[in-house]
Amino acid sequence: MKGKCPGCFFEFDIVDDVMIGEIIECPDCAIQLEVVEKNNGGIVFEVAHLEEEDWGE
Ligand SMILES: [Zn+2]
Repeated sequence: MKGKCPGCFFEFDIVDDVMIGEIIECPDCAIQLEVVEKNNGGIVFEVAHLEEEDWGE
């Protein structure tokens, strides 16, 4: 599947069995991207905010 980085608009291949909520690093600008949607057209990403993450443990 294809996905496009919302930060740098670089388009890249992602494994077909990627899960919603999974974090992927953009191969171009290296920001962390969260998978928010999967459809026939590809993957939709949102920039992940890992530094603000509250793991709740
Ligand atoms: Zn990028």
